[in-house]
Amino acid sequence: MKLWDYHTHTSLCNHATGTIEDYVKAAVEVKLAEVGISDHFPMDLLPEHFHIYAMTLNDFPNYIDEIKRLKLKYNQIQIRISSEVDYFPEVFDGYKKLLTPYLDDFDYIIGSIHAIPWKNHDAIPVDELQAVPLIRELGVDQFYLEYYNNLLRMVKTNFYDVVGHLDLPKKYGLVPYDTDRIWQKVLQLLDQIESNDLTVEINTSGLKKRIKQEYPSEDIIKELITRKIPITLGSDAHSPQAIGFRFEELITKTKKWGLTEICQYSKRERSLVPLK
Ligand SMILES: [Zn+2]
Ligand SMILES: [Zn+2]
Repeated sequence: MKLWDYHTHTSLCNHATGTIEDYVKAAVEVKLAEVGISDHFPMDLLPEHFHIYAMTLNDFPNYIDEIKRLKLKYNQIQIRISSEVDYFPEVFDGYKKLLTPYLDDFDYIIGSIHAIPWKNHDAIPVDELQAVPLIRELGVDQFYLEYYNNLLRMVKTNFYDVVGHLDLPKKYGLVPYDTDRIWQKVLQLLDQIESNDLTVEINTSGLKKRIKQEYPSEDIIKELITRKIPITLGSDAHSPQAIGFRFEELITKTKKWGLTEICQYSKRERSLVPLK
């Protein structure tokens, strides 16, 4: 079955390689049915430390126009228009305003958290190697709880379609000590995701990070399947070669756990497609 990759970046975000067209070509090459271009939305409203990780606000209209141009040029693949948008509580309304002109263009919006507010700090990066000692100092479990509390708020806004890399803090090997306590928090988050009817992505990029696991981890994926929470697939490619990274083996594995369908988005409408 031809699959689709709904999480990709481009050189516009300053920490990935390849143009939008390079990703489209790579997706055609590996015979995907669809590719979703979901580069980081400008991070101008986050503390300054994060601005470098995304295109500027001036770039964003060109980004959308370029995806539209490619949609017309390539008819052998379905190209979806998206963006990975950060949720940061105090600037959420500002982000909503910035995104309003584009809401009709998007097929889906990925909501992700790369930074969380913290007392006496501008913000703590969730997935930066340099932040790991600080997170240990603040308390790994406390950090996980705060991260998930922020995700809970994000889900409640009803602004996003897909929850990106749900258990991101594990990227560099930081895992909770009180696993039961954190698991209860995860279940609370999944309850919220169900009641707001959001989708969760399985993001294969974690497999090549220090943690060597998908996001989210296998026990959470099994819980998603049991609860029939809709799932999308994303490689979180930061280079065209990473498109569709390890999707086939992920599908083989998750089918054994009972996954029967994955979802597609068009103009923010979700449809579930049976896995063949
Ligand atoms: Zn990135
Ligand atoms: Zn991300």
